[in-house]
Amino acid sequence: MTDYQSLGVRPLINACATMTKFGGSLMPPEVIAAMNEAATAFVDLQRLQRRAGERIAELTRNEAAYITSGAAAGIMLASAAAVLSKQPDALKRFPEIGPYKDEAIVFRSQRNPYDYAIHQTGLKYSEIEAAPAALRAAISERTASVFWFARGVDSVDEISLEAAIAIAAEHHIPVIVDAAAQLPPVDNLWRFTEMGAALALFSGGKDLRGPQSSGLMLGRRDLIDSIRPISNPNHGLGRPMKVGKEEMMGVLAAVERYINLDHAAREEYCEETVQLFCAALDPLPGVCAERAFPNEAGQPLPRCRVTIDTSVIGKSADDLVEAFLAQEPAIAVAPDSDSSFYLNPMTLNQGEERIVRDACLQLLRVP
Ligand SMILES: *Cc1c(COP(=O)(O)O)cnc(C)c1O
Repeated sequence: MTDYQSLGVRPLINACATMTKFGGSLMPPEVIAAMNEAATAFVDLQRLQRRAGERIAELTRNEAAYITSGAAAGIMLASAAAVLSKQPDALKRFPEIGPYKDEAIVFRSQRNPYDYAIHQTGLKYSEIEAAPAALRAAISERTASVFWFARGVDSVDEISLEAAIAIAAEHHIPVIVDAAAQLPPVDNLWRFTEMGAALALFSGGKDLRGPQSSGLMLGRRDLIDSIRPISNPNHGLGRPMKVGKEEMMGVLAAVERYINLDHAAREEYCEETVQLFCAALDPLPGVCAERAFPNEAGQPLPRCRVTIDTSVIGKSADDLVEAFLAQEPAIAVAPDSDSSFYLNPMTLNQGEERIVRDACLQLLRVP
């Protein structure tokens, strides 16, 4: 059997984050088992999507759920659903929509590369300041949806998500939340929609540890039902973002696991690992290692920030990031600045923290 090694692709230890470019996350045995089992039989895919969605909705305390091929696909389908709720005849016209309900309001401070998926439906961005007055002024005949990019526990905007939802609700405009990386905490699976967001989107392949090419759209049943006719196996806007039976069963198993996971024990492992890194590295000459919180996606988990005096260590942080990747086993750490990087315990397997610590002791030695 051809494996990674025989292709010249080196497996790596991930002390960086649930990065798509490193494969997202690793599937636990129960997810792999569910995918393997799913691969052994033909099924009616639409019925599976409905039934698995109902189960996920129940587990996540939502009215409805739809399995997507990722959060980015979810952004696109949710954008389409918002258009369809006001313009049902757009079904076979995407991306030729309009002349009304053809704009999505996005906040300038929240713009990010993933929001391109909004535009792929044919929607135009109406980019505004993240403030209540700006939102009130921007809503018009053309507004199909308001987008909110959730950045976790440390985000600050002049407008809160609650306020955005309240203002949009006065005009019956759905608020769509990109919460792709907002797990943990687990209760985010229902928090945004309980607050009144119409739909919330999550990656299946990040902390949920489902298949990398899976995602969840959670929220209003009418919106979710509206995109079924244009999603696989049907034809239309959603067809290129196919979700297989294996991904459907895999992400369902991942949600079941995540809901029942001992999140406190997991948090404790992360705290202990950060302490292990700090205790080993901080005493080194030219090195400061400290706990940083929350992590890069605003998730309530700690990381270890390692700051180096480059004149003492003789290397820049970028050199070190490369050196970690070049060694055996290869380790991905998170780049930060010219003189700092992060070690993230979130994506480590138990036991790998010692390999990472030892590699740091090796590479951070004063020459
Ligand atoms: C990862 C991410 C996405 C994309 O998620 P996929 O599941 O990889 O499609 C979208 N938005 C944000 C904020 C993300 O972090």
